[in-house]
Amino acid sequence: MKKDKFVHSLRIQLFPDSLIEERTEVLIDFCKKYGFNDVMLMINAEEFNFGHITIEEATPWVEKLKGVREALLDAGICVSVNNWIEMGHLARGRKLKPGQNFTTMVDYNGLRDELVACPIDTEWQDYFCEYASFLVRELEPDYFWIEDDFRYHNHAPLTFGGCFCEKHIALFNSILGTSYTREEFVQRAFAPGKPTRERKVWLDTERRSIVDLAERITKAIKAASPKTEVALMSSSPENHCIEARDWNGLLGALAQGGDKLNRIHLPSYLETMGKTYIHNFNRVSMAIRHFSGDDTKVWPEVENGTPNMMRKSPRYLRFHMEGSLPLVLDGMTYSINGFCGNGAVEELGYGKEVKRLDPYLNAVRDRNIRFSSLSGVTVPVFEDVCYKLDIKNGFGDLTTSLFQAGAYIASLGLSFKYSSERRYRNETIALLSDSVHCFTDKEIIDIFENNSVILDGSVASILCERGLSYLIGAESVHEIPLETPTYAYEMLAENRKILGINGYRSTIRGEMGRYFDASYGENSGVKVLTKVYSASGEITANGFAEGNNFLVLPYMVDNKHDNQFCELRRLLIKDFVLKHSGKVAISEYTGIYPYLYAEEDQTHIMVTNALLDDFNSIVLDTKGLNVNKMSEIGHDGITKEVPFTLEDGKLTVNAKLPMMSCVTLIIE
Ligand SMILES: [Zn+2]
Repeated sequence: MKKDKFVHSLRIQLFPDSLIEERTEVLIDFCKKYGFNDVMLMINAEEFNFGHITIEEATPWVEKLKGVREALLDAGICVSVNNWIEMGHLARGRKLKPGQNFTTMVDYNGLRDELVACPIDTEWQDYFCEYASFLVRELEPDYFWIEDDFRYHNHAPLTFGGCFCEKHIALFNSILGTSYTREEFVQRAFAPGKPTRERKVWLDTERRSIVDLAERITKAIKAASPKTEVALMSSSPENHCIEARDWNGLLGALAQGGDKLNRIHLPSYLETMGKTYIHNFNRVSMAIRHFSGDDTKVWPEVENGTPNMMRKSPRYLRFHMEGSLPLVLDGMTYSINGFCGNGAVEELGYGKEVKRLDPYLNAVRDRNIRFSSLSGVTVPVFEDVCYKLDIKNGFGDLTTSLFQAGAYIASLGLSFKYSSERRYRNETIALLSDSVHCFTDKEIIDIFENNSVILDGSVASILCERGLSYLIGAESVHEIPLETPTYAYEMLAENRKILGINGYRSTIRGEMGRYFDASYGENSGVKVLTKVYSASGEITANGFAEGNNFLVLPYMVDNKHDNQFCELRRLLIKDFVLKHSGKVAISEYTGIYPYLYAEEDQTHIMVTNALLDDFNSIVLDTKGLNVNKMSEIGHDGITKEVPFTLEDGKLTVNAKLPMMSCVTLIIE
């Protein structure tokens, strides 16, 4: 459905008790006052969750919601519907009802859940399609939302990793032509080492079944209410990779030729500090946005969740909203009142923040920015990475670190983009941690021959194992043990000042992750930029090393290791990127994140400030930008030209960058 304005969708649960009429009046006043133009009516949610609710149980509730719907429509507010569960999030003591002979999920240890349905159980599918059809026939919503329980994982107390019920085991056996028990199948699927045939069948089945289920539900909904579109709520990319999620297939199955709409998770249940939040935002939300494609509308979710100590501050909520602008938004969903049936609570103070930002959100939306035009350091990511990962210690090894790479690069203040291409030309590629497993030797050689490459120590080590060490001129690479006096700190090898200090040092103690020492041939042309020293000042290993078109980081970027985030490392990587990158924007300070959208006919930069500092100007090092005129889209929605200077790539824009905000600039 084409909405002509930014959608502010309030997620709210109204329980059909004696308070519902009063709650409805308050809700409509709240929406009109603060500009919420869509209400997502929740039913069967959280505190009022009946498990796999029956049509009989839902009928009196739906009858009341029909009245709420009419009142909302009369007030010019759109209505969508969310049933809170499909298969079910967590049982929390709820069980199947008499007559519900559904097969429930079983984890790989054999633990069976008492509520969460197996996605391939046709008896549950029949129930859910009939129930969802009833809901949309009665309420005729613009959108029916598929909740974020629509996944194989995160159904505690079940262990992560899919369903191994009798139906799944039978399906695996029929594909494999075997007669494994659960234990026999699991032992083979998750055997240490390279992916087995059984693991591939397990992944294929997860990948296919979620798309098939989406198609079945959507067709039932469309048959019951042709005007209703089906929208998706999604979770973190690491977890979706464990089920090898087919993003294009899933969003296409839900759209059935209509809208593709993804409520992307913003990883801020808590009021965490800005830099931590944006790190997670780049890891989670930007990755899911990449997988969703340009033809998918995005309405992320801001929350005032119950895990917070007291409530989230309205000012933080504003940052939460502004900070999500780089996803290129069409709307926003709001879980700001809790779900236990209080209705809209004006006193919490969130409404005025939504109203305040509305002109800005609309003005940015009207620019029709194309998400895929993001430019900067390229971070390869693949939805099917799980097919490539080895198991060393256990099932947990299948959690990919791919998205940590994007979060790390962004945290250094570099503009970046995720990409799922296999071949690149004249780009700067961040080949960190898992991504090396996704490319064949031939593809890696092609990447090195035609691009500049930032690789980490683990990738350097794997290049050696694969006989490709010549690409980086290395003779050997091996991991060194940290937390010993032998390897204490890293120091610049050349006479150069960093932050005004000669011989700048950084620790390799504490939270550093894994660290690798490489030796380079004398004629390799590789320049060692930093050396590792012992506590008594002896050189004990090589650190950063730079070749013609590559930079080796000596550590492994597979998680958020705090000591990897420091000025020495940031500035060495920044120098390399500025030297080699075609088009990039780099912030002067950490905690400020430029997102560069370079299209053929228009260029935008969004700059997020996650710090508690206000700035009177925006300073970026840039490459490949021609700037004749700069404008800023104001928070009042009005675009105004702003003075700027561009000297040797240093762009200084005379525009304020307030604490915890996101500014949008237009370059002409
Ligand atoms: Zn199953």
